[in-house]
Amino acid sequence: MSRASVFLTTLLLAACAPPAVVPQITTVSVTADGETVPVATLDDAADDPAIWRNAADPAASLIVATDKKRGLHVYGLDGAERSFVVAGRVNNVDLATTPAGVIVAASDRNDDANGKIALFRLDPGTARLLPLGVVPAGPGEAYGICLWATPGALTAFVTFKEGTVRQIELDAPAATGRIVRTMKLGSQPEGCVVDARTARLYVGEEDIGIWRFDARAAAGPKGTLIARVDGKRLFDDVEGLAIATEGTTNGGYLVASSQGDNAFAVYRLSDERYVGRFRIGDGQFGGTQETDGIEINAADFGAAYPGGLMVAQDGDNQPAQNFKLVSWAKVKAALKLR
Ligand code: CA
Ligand code: CA
Ligand code: CA
Ligand code: CA
Ligand code: CA
Repeated sequence: MSRASVFLTTLLLAACAPPAVVPQITTVSVTADGETVPVATLDDAADDPAIWRNAADPAASLIVATDKKRGLHVYGLDGAERSFVVAGRVNNVDLATTPAGVIVAASDRNDDANGKIALFRLDPGTARLLPLGVVPAGPGEAYGICLWATPGALTAFVTFKEGTVRQIELDAPAATGRIVRTMKLGSQPEGCVVDARTARLYVGEEDIGIWRFDARAAAGPKGTLIARVDGKRLFDDVEGLAIATEGTTNGGYLVASSQGDNAFAVYRLSDERYVGRFRIGDGQFGGTQETDGIEINAADFGAAYPGGLMVAQDGDNQPAQNFKLVSWAKVKAALKLR
């Protein structure tokens, strides 16, 4: 056969062959149930939230969130601002309830050559943040932060733009800390979250995927890549990470902001398997685009959010960026997760 007829035969065979079975990757859509007032900075400024749950009155819970050019906002679940504290370039924020009160920690890059942790105590009564001080976190630009509270200890993980992740044991009331471990990724990480039940730390390497580390300092520096940026389930940048825990062992979900396609990828915590993806689309409130930070708490947040609350930064909102609030139960129902 001539080369042309071989080519033609191959084409015909391909045309007659049954179609390859391509697994469908669908992205379901939900709408927001609320939003915060926009941040004051008319630029890329809103970045990352944390949620303080008021156990005695869940509807009176608070959201702490960064304007990465100015400081920290505190919002009610109605989205109204309750307070603001000037803190300059604080990028990400997390909080933990400790014997010393509700401790809020932000990655502080006011000096982009020397990373710091800015510490505050949240007064739930007044919704105000009381500055406790600033803890050195080592050389480099402090970018992401997540906390790990265990009985008797409060640990921060700070991700640095050039790839370093430092683990720092904090004495929050004294505003001091001690670097107890250093990990290294090949490129820029940002979002991180700890599952305190399993002592697992998840870190997003923006262009690469999601890493799991043993959160215990003695475990050594090596991580495991559990989800790769594949342009199907997960698109770069991997931005915010959050967990929605269920039960006391390892139930619930890990959620990642798949920033490049304005969506969120969901993984089951028990086996770290991908279980679906969703988008926050336009509805009564606008949808989310180019989301940076996210936070989720699957507990009861009162009449509006009885099945949990997700807060997601919205990178495209007028007149300025803000944070959207979404019923976590609604996300689970859309993804047919039980
Ligand atoms: Ca942004
Ligand atoms: Ca956060
Ligand atoms: Ca980022
Ligand atoms: Ca939007
Ligand atoms: Ca960010």
